[in-house]
Amino acid sequence: MVEQLKPFQVGFGIEGGAEALVHAIRRFCTAAHDEPMVLVKFDFKNAFNMLFRKFMLGEVKDICPELLPLLQQAYRLPSNLYFTDEPLFSKRGYQQGDPLGPPGFCIGIMRMTHSLLSRLNGWYLDDGTIGDVLPTVLGDIKKVLSFCDVSGLSLNANKCEVFFVNASAEDEARMYADISALLPGIKRVDESSLEILGSPIFELGLERMFSSKIESIRLMCDRLKLMDVHPALCIFRKSLSSCRFNYLLRSCRAFLLLDKLKAVDEIFRSTLEVISNAKVDGFSWDQASLPLSFGGMGIRKVEDLAVPAYLSSVYSSSNLSDKLLERFNLRIIDNDILHLIEEIPQEYIPDNDALKEVQKNWDLPRIKSKFSEMFDSSEPTARARLLASSTKESSKWLQVVPSSQLGLLLDNNSARIAVGLRLGCQLCEEHECLCGRNVKKDGLHGLSCNKSGGWISGHDEVNKIFSHAFSSAGFPNLVQPTGISRDDGKRPDGMTLIPWSHGRQILWDVTIKDTLAPSYINQSSKKAGSIADNAERYKHNHYIRLKENYLFTPIAFESLGSMGPETKIFIKKLGSIMRKASGEPRSMDYLLQKVSIAIQRRNSSCILGTLGRSRIDDFYLL
Ligand SMILES: [Zn+2]
Repeated sequence: MVEQLKPFQVGFGIEGGAEALVHAIRRFCTAAHDEPMVLVKFDFKNAFNMLFRKFMLGEVKDICPELLPLLQQAYRLPSNLYFTDEPLFSKRGYQQGDPLGPPGFCIGIMRMTHSLLSRLNGWYLDDGTIGDVLPTVLGDIKKVLSFCDVSGLSLNANKCEVFFVNASAEDEARMYADISALLPGIKRVDESSLEILGSPIFELGLERMFSSKIESIRLMCDRLKLMDVHPALCIFRKSLSSCRFNYLLRSCRAFLLLDKLKAVDEIFRSTLEVISNAKVDGFSWDQASLPLSFGGMGIRKVEDLAVPAYLSSVYSSSNLSDKLLERFNLRIIDNDILHLIEEIPQEYIPDNDALKEVQKNWDLPRIKSKFSEMFDSSEPTARARLLASSTKESSKWLQVVPSSQLGLLLDNNSARIAVGLRLGCQLCEEHECLCGRNVKKDGLHGLSCNKSGGWISGHDEVNKIFSHAFSSAGFPNLVQPTGISRDDGKRPDGMTLIPWSHGRQILWDVTIKDTLAPSYINQSSKKAGSIADNAERYKHNHYIRLKENYLFTPIAFESLGSMGPETKIFIKKLGSIMRKASGEPRSMDYLLQKVSIAIQRRNSSCILGTLGRSRIDDFYLL
């Protein structure tokens, strides 16, 4: 059916259909035509609800008979709508929310859309746009009007729009008079107000659109500060940051408005600063703007995304856009696009047209180069932080649903410290730790100080999480079992009560090491997870004797969330057993999320622990 609808109707079953239509219309409006052209945008009153049922079922019968039995069941007879006690009969159009509504509507108007003679003829569901010389456009408007008579649709002339291309003022006045004779009150739009599917066609309109979008995003971001840190961060990352601009960046030449893009990025930066209560600027903002897998917070700068988004959209929709423009002999990848690509460094350009269709292929080389640039210019502590934060498991706390019922909500201080540790922000004032050593503004001393206290509760929390994980995998277990001791006399952290494999129970031992401890920096600034890797090997030394009768696995994490290689393999195995036992496909992910949250709480507790009990008491007195 989708093939039948193509290329005139792009609103159903066609990926990137809206973008293709916008690109095609922009190309039409900016091309040098030999004669004056007219572009008309149709607007139907309450379109989906107006088609006559008999008409729409007739069209479905002829065009897509396989849908008919189902649609006949739904729409053959009027349905009842209740207002007070009197039923109203719903006799027209598709029911709101019906998944078959959009394809059914497309089928309903298909004969009309395909019969229009304008050389530019594109529809996104009920949003139709035609473009050609005046006589052809007038002929098509008449066709649409007579289609309205038989189908039940009606044009909302006041909301229809007309735009003239390559026309003098006199031409425009003459053409407008002819068109408004058919569509009285049709709105004449200029370069600053022509929009197709919410996307401005010219730079003038784009500037206006960005200004209003900036205002609305500022308002929404402002309201985030009324929320707690963790949920605010979640909403900000997932629905109020660059994703809000995705369609605009892909469908418009937004990269031309550098100052507006920078203004948007500045709102993002200050919002992150306000909601996380951590000073984010310069290096830390650059890091925050990287994707999670590169140690960032996934709050992408629109300035970085504008060119990759636009070019990938143009390439991915070029087949469809070219088809829409075929009768004008125009192509979407024109000299403008080629010039734009010429200005991009060769190493950022994907190798072939198929690769150019994917935004990631334009984006990734830039991200990689930015990451290397940041890494190379950093001192070892920042390098270790960047490497550890780039591991998959280190960002799990940012991906959780921040819910206290699920035990996945970080309190405000823990969330602030989690952001600060990831981005290297100042976490406290310089002060003296309980151990007598000086704590710098980055607060890092607390993570490796024995006196700060938080590491004990952190360790126990992670141990409990693994005990529960073993239980839900079907292995009853004991935490810190008595009666068996390691080579150094201490107890293991846990033991299953039934054999794990080879007829043997498994012992486990949890450890959390500080990625940024001064004694580890030399190593952790070269390879992510290397401190946990060392810890795993070290743990094995304590179990030489016990390993004669038991299996053993170390469970080693680092304060910035990365884990050791053996831990990674073991968690994968445990996750797959949990998945089989519980039927929950994301079991392993949930386990890692819980661990990640526990580690962030531990970090927070360690760092606040350096302030000393008396100072915390002072806070309560205040
Ligand atoms: Zn200390």
